[in-house]
Parts: sequence; C-alpha cells; structure tokens
Amino acid sequence: MINVRDDIFGHLDRIHKLDQEARKDKPVNSWYASSFDTCLCGRYLHRIGTKRDSEFTPRLLTVFDVGKKEEKWLIDTYKEIIEHEPGKYQLEEQVRIDNKKYNVHGFIDLIITEKDGTKTALEIKSKHSRSFWYLTRQGAQLGHKLQLWWYLQETGIEKGLIVYLSKDDREILQFEVLRNDKELKKQALNEVKILNYCLKYKIPPPPAEKGTWQEKNCGYHQQCKKLQKEQKILTQEQIKQIINNKLK
Ligand code: SF4
Repeated sequence: MINVRDDIFGHLDRIHKLDQEARKDKPVNSWYASSFDTCLCGRYLHRIGTKRDSEFTPRLLTVFDVGKKEEKWLIDTYKEIIEHEPGKYQLEEQVRIDNKKYNVHGFIDLIITEKDGTKTALEIKSKHSRSFWYLTRQGAQLGHKLQLWWYLQETGIEKGLIVYLSKDDREILQFEVLRNDKELKKQALNEVKILNYCLKYKIPPPPAEKGTWQEKNCGYHQQCKKLQKEQKILTQEQIKQIINNKLK
C-alpha cells in the first residue's frame, strides 16, 4: 500500500539533500534580507559556512515547502485577477535585490503597479492560525518589517505591505511599511554594519539574549559555544563605534 507520509517526507528530504549537495562548495557571499532581527551571531556563523548542529527534520522541511506553496497561491491568484480584469495591475514577481555596499540580497515576492503608476511591494508570509491571530493584536513581526523596508529603500518604492496568510483558516492580514520609516532604517543599517565589521575582522558578534525566540530557534548552539570560548566577542563599546561609523 502507498504510504503517503513516507512518499512526501522522503521526497522533500531528497530534494533538500540535493540542494545542500549543490551548495556544498559554494561560499555564502552575502547576508539575507529575510534574516533581519535574527541572532547576529547565528547569521555570522552561517555566513562563515558553519554546519548547523543538526539537519532540518522532514516535518520542518514540509512546513517550509507548504509555506512556499501558500505564498505562490497568493501570487497566482493575483495573476487570475488580471486575467479577469486586464490592465488593472502589472505584476513583477521574485524581483532580486542585491546591495553591494552592505552585501545584502533578497527577493521581493511581488511588486504590484496600479494604472496610475503607483507601486506596492509585497512580502508574503504564511502562518498557522494561532500565530496569525496573535499578529492581529501585536502587528507585523519586526524582522519582516525590516526585510520589507530594505526592499523599499533598494527599489525606491514608497510603500510596501507585509501580507500574512493563515494556513488553517484561510484569512489574510496586511501591514503597511513605509520607506521613510526612520526607526526601521536605523535598525536595518546598524545590523548590517555590525555584521560586515565582524566578518571583516573575524570577530563574532554578541550572542542573542538567553530565553529569546532568537535563541530558542537557533540551529548553532554547539558551534556557537565553541566559537565564543575560543574568540573574543565584540564589546558594546565597539558596537557603538561601528554604528556611529567610527570603526570601519
Ligand atoms: S547559540 Fe545563541 S548566540 Fe549563538 S548563534 Fe545561537 S542564538 Fe545566537
């Protein structure tokens, strides 16, 4: 008898391994815009090619895969909208962003241009319903806002929307992000300045605070412990100087 669970998990595991194999000897050359607000030290370890403590489980790979397909569903539905109402919008999907100065890359899920030329950049995220309804009270996640702000400043688009899809009950929620948001600008630039300094001088950034979600979701606990024992970590004074452009 067909075992659907084994078929699906096995397939995703195979695809993941092939993908890893293809990337094996390729260094990570830039920071991911999708990683803003995660642990700086974790991003540093990833960038220098450190192996995670353990592989992603087949269940987690399934979560990633379904998430991607959910996001694609929203884009495909926009394509159907313009089939029914030609000329209503123009769509650009998966627009690559590469910032050479700060070494950050990413992909904008969708840019929608209205008839009057107004552009809106969309960052689409899927969530399970508990986390989705929590966001209705708390607002968009900071990392998502920073990611979208980065795309806005790269493209010059004034306004973007973070769109959350609820996986289990099919609701949709959106939060606006503006290119002129000074707080997002400050945090995004500070993060990349610190990361680039650490990479240049091979100094690990400061660790995430204990008990935070960043620490709980981290895949580098063992490697990180080793690194922090062996090397000096960036001090708060150095961080201040990097942020104020006094250390380059
Ligand atoms: S163990 Fe903590 S400090 Fe180290 S990479 Fe993970 S979250 Fe960051």
